[in-house]
Amino acid sequence: MSKRVLIAQIMHETNTFSRLLTAEDAYRRRYLVHGDELPEKFRGTRTEIGGFLDAADRFGWTLVNAIAANATPSGKVTAECWQMLKAGVLDVLDKEGPVDGICLALHGAMVSETDDDAEGALLAAIRRKIGRKVPIAITLDLHANVSDEMAEHADAIIAYRTYPHIDLYERAVQAAGLVNEVMEGRKELACSVARPPSLDGCDHGRTSAGVGPMVDLLAKAAEYEKETGIYAISVHAGFQWSDIVPAGPSVAITYSPSVGSRAQTILEDLVSDIWETREEQTVHYVPLDEAVAEARKGQDGTGKPLVIADATDNPGGGGYGDTTNLLRALLDAGITNACFCPITDPASIEIGQKAGVGATISVELGGKVDPVFGAPISCTGVVKSLTDGKFVHDGPMWKGLAMSMGPTMVLDVNGIDIVVTTNRQQTTDHQAFLTNGIDPKTKDVIVVKSSHHFRAAFEPISRKVIVADSGSLCSHNWSAFDFKKLRRPIWPLDEVTLS
Ligand SMILES: [Zn+2]
Repeated sequence: MSKRVLIAQIMHETNTFSRLLTAEDAYRRRYLVHGDELPEKFRGTRTEIGGFLDAADRFGWTLVNAIAANATPSGKVTAECWQMLKAGVLDVLDKEGPVDGICLALHGAMVSETDDDAEGALLAAIRRKIGRKVPIAITLDLHANVSDEMAEHADAIIAYRTYPHIDLYERAVQAAGLVNEVMEGRKELACSVARPPSLDGCDHGRTSAGVGPMVDLLAKAAEYEKETGIYAISVHAGFQWSDIVPAGPSVAITYSPSVGSRAQTILEDLVSDIWETREEQTVHYVPLDEAVAEARKGQDGTGKPLVIADATDNPGGGGYGDTTNLLRALLDAGITNACFCPITDPASIEIGQKAGVGATISVELGGKVDPVFGAPISCTGVVKSLTDGKFVHDGPMWKGLAMSMGPTMVLDVNGIDIVVTTNRQQTTDHQAFLTNGIDPKTKDVIVVKSSHHFRAAFEPISRKVIVADSGSLCSHNWSAFDFKKLRRPIWPLDEVTLS
């Protein structure tokens, strides 16, 4: 008989230091869909739900489509929004249960006003409804802060293995495969997690350079996965901008209960590797004057653009997407034939909409959420385009997925095409420019607010990539953050001696 499997996605990477709470409207700006809307939106996409749908077809499951919700990283999820998201799974279980299995796509670094460990609380609530025997597999972001509760209530934890994250689909198929094995009676699963006394490590999870601690950790994990009864090993770099007890790198292992002690030995070995390599980094942030000097050099004869990441204002890590220090430095330096995405500033867009395309307008641009990261820029420019900001990702990341920047304006200020958006969104895709009439390949300088995901689409077209530190919210200067709940002692904030 066909197995009934519930699938759902509830995602948020919560920067607890952000002053912007995350409410339902933030989900509506990215996506918030229920029931039959899941296959409509995700079939054919390289996403987790896309993977669950294909796996369900292959295994002949009857799907219970619950909810798919994602919002740009920002501050804590409001209590009301969190209730709504949880109900998207729990109420469906009440109405459409029982089910034989559950596949959940979670982030693993979600914090609500009421739950520091939102995913752990969700999984515990699901367990209370379905009991211990129904298998639950979860996919997680590689930047998850995995709690003991998550490992207690999930049967399988499968995290992305790429950063930029381009294996969402594959990990979902893997998770669904394990759920199927349990439902068919071929496997039993146990799950454990362990973490070093470290806030930072795993080179922030970077895999794209093909070298570095994360690459080595994943290779070692893959070797261990060849052993009998070791079904999946997930290495998480953690999400550091989160003041919760388990923040930081961890390893989760999914295994047969028959090889429990071996699984613990493997965990200890990988955690020890994270600790030993905690100071190794493959990317170095450069100060703004260095980034501007590189832009000043101009073309090097390749005809390709220089790509600068405004990495510490990455909306993909909870940055406000409106900080101005880097943009101001480029304008002051007289850089031209450049494009910059985004400055999130609905008020300036409204002025542009009233004036229309082709008009010259004066605005106080950006710097509105927290001017400590750069005051608004008083500037005059030409409105080059006004769009609804909707686009479908070219990929490789999120290939095929439709998202929206909200009403969007391109403002040309002295030769820099600034993409001014309504929604806070990391720039990872060429369509962020193309859909607004800018061909990034024709520019001398491209600036994206992103710390690393931009590399998947933009590194191949660049002559050089620079990661700049504009001193914004996603700084790696951990001692600048007022951690209160984080477990202590922890490196690099404290002296840590291992026993
Ligand atoms: Zn991530």
